[in-house]
Amino acid sequence: MPAKIPFNKPFIAGKELYYVAQAVTLGNISGDGYFTEQCCRLLEDEFGIHRVLLTPSCTAALEMAAMLCGVGPGDEVIMPSFTFVSTANAFARLGAKPVFVDIRPDTMNLDETRLAAHIGPATKAIVPVHYAGVACEMNRITEIAKEHRVEVIEDAAQGVNAFYEGRSLGSLGALGAYSFHETKNYICGEGGALCINDEQYVQRAEIIREKGTNRSQFFRGQVDKYTWVDIGSSYVPSEIVSAFLFAQLEMLETIATRRRQIYEVYYERLEPLARSGLLRLPFVPPGCQTNYHMFYILVDDLETRDGLMQHLREHDISAVFHYVPLHTSPMGHRFGYHEGDLPVTEAMSDRLVRLPFYYEMRDEDQQRVILEVRRFLETRTPRSRSTSRAVREK
Ligand SMILES: *Cc1c(COP(=O)(O)O)cnc(C)c1O
Repeated sequence: MPAKIPFNKPFIAGKELYYVAQAVTLGNISGDGYFTEQCCRLLEDEFGIHRVLLTPSCTAALEMAAMLCGVGPGDEVIMPSFTFVSTANAFARLGAKPVFVDIRPDTMNLDETRLAAHIGPATKAIVPVHYAGVACEMNRITEIAKEHRVEVIEDAAQGVNAFYEGRSLGSLGALGAYSFHETKNYICGEGGALCINDEQYVQRAEIIREKGTNRSQFFRGQVDKYTWVDIGSSYVPSEIVSAFLFAQLEMLETIATRRRQIYEVYYERLEPLARSGLLRLPFVPPGCQTNYHMFYILVDDLETRDGLMQHLREHDISAVFHYVPLHTSPMGHRFGYHEGDLPVTEAMSDRLVRLPFYYEMRDEDQQRVILEVRRFLETRTPRSRSTSRAVREK
């Protein structure tokens, strides 16, 4: 019996435990010590971000971004529905309404051509989500945001070490958020970062992150005592976590190279199926450099998707799908949305399958995944395929 192939497996790059031990030995295991500093400087230098602040998660970074933009009841924030809940929750928890815009069928990213129609006097921000580490059409989005004087906050949770016209994701909006959750490319269990590209937000971000105090200024000797100066919360990660993360960030290129290999093998071996019209492969627009965050395929319809996942499960292969579109969720309904409101989002979400993808994936395991995908899709009768597709595209 061949071993089960997991969907994801956290990769240990090498020095994680050594650096954690060093953090403990240094005697400071709360936040903003040596390793947090190292991580922030590395991310700023590598990705051209004005200021990086590590956070306990990307969710926390998005919450900070929402607070910094002064979002509140009555405000609207534009985002895709095809995203993780945190994109919306960061704003909804402050009383703002998420305004969901449909996605482009080629990249699953916010459809920039539909954006302007959703902007109104209550719009405070646009939150592009760079799905799978492939950039949104940022030139157009930035232009529209400028025109209407609204902020751009990038959800770059999946976009660490990915680029748009040579500029890194997370460096393009006034604010951006990275994730280092164990399912992402660079990990520390749970972790994230707030990327600040507009200097006006730096000081208040430091305060919000430090429970609403000016402790950061105190540590730099800029004030002689620290005190409560604003709202805030506990958004500083421990040095133990930062030490782990630094070991990963030092291996940035090694990790990227291996992920690229896995992606390319999937792409090349599945291309014949795409040519036969049995599936669709990920699309990376010109000017976008992906970070190979995931490998997904799009099949004809929900029935095929469920059948394929079932087939893979029977062969001990874990594939997953996402997202349940936010506008069709119970919370989406509370904001007045219904099934049918965003047809591209709903169709794509029914058809998408993510294949196992992790650094240590063995070549023979990847071949097994490819073989089972082929076996399932190639043995489906052409007749049932064309009928179901015709129904879907109505
Ligand atoms: C993973 C992810 C998040 C949340 O990241 P956490 O670090 O787990 O909080 C937010 N948005 C998107 C698009 C994600 O993929």
